[in-house]
Amino acid sequence: MPHELVVKHHGHIAHRLMHHPTGCGNLHGHTYHFQFSFDVLDIDPVTGMGADFSELKKIVRKLVDKWDHGCLLNRKDPVFELLIQRSSLDQSKIIGFDGEPTAEAMAKELWLGVAHELHSNHISGVTIRSVDVWETDVNCATYRS
Ligand SMILES: [Zn+2]
Repeated sequence: MPHELVVKHHGHIAHRLMHHPTGCGNLHGHTYHFQFSFDVLDIDPVTGMGADFSELKKIVRKLVDKWDHGCLLNRKDPVFELLIQRSSLDQSKIIGFDGEPTAEAMAKELWLGVAHELHSNHISGVTIRSVDVWETDVNCATYRS
């Protein structure tokens, strides 16, 4: 597949790695940068496009914006229990993971989410290849098919 489409987005997201022995064991946040790479299966002979960037951006933004200004936590983390009991907080922004909310876990979750959205929105001609999650300028986790 010679063509690839790339869509980027970012979000300000808090998390805590309850099993991390140092700083990441504290509740803290990052400005994450996300890069989504799509394999183009077919180029439409009329439009000349593999997919409409606006449709891909809609999917990417829907998924990332759920996490933006939110807090990702392991469902087994006592902090998760504490926060979901606080009715003064926006509960939709306290997001539980089945495990540690690492950049690796986020990349996999986003990859699965994009694959699901492509299918349910009947977007053909592209598949999700990889998701890069940049936690800092120098640290990135990738999940790929
Ligand atoms: Zn962190």
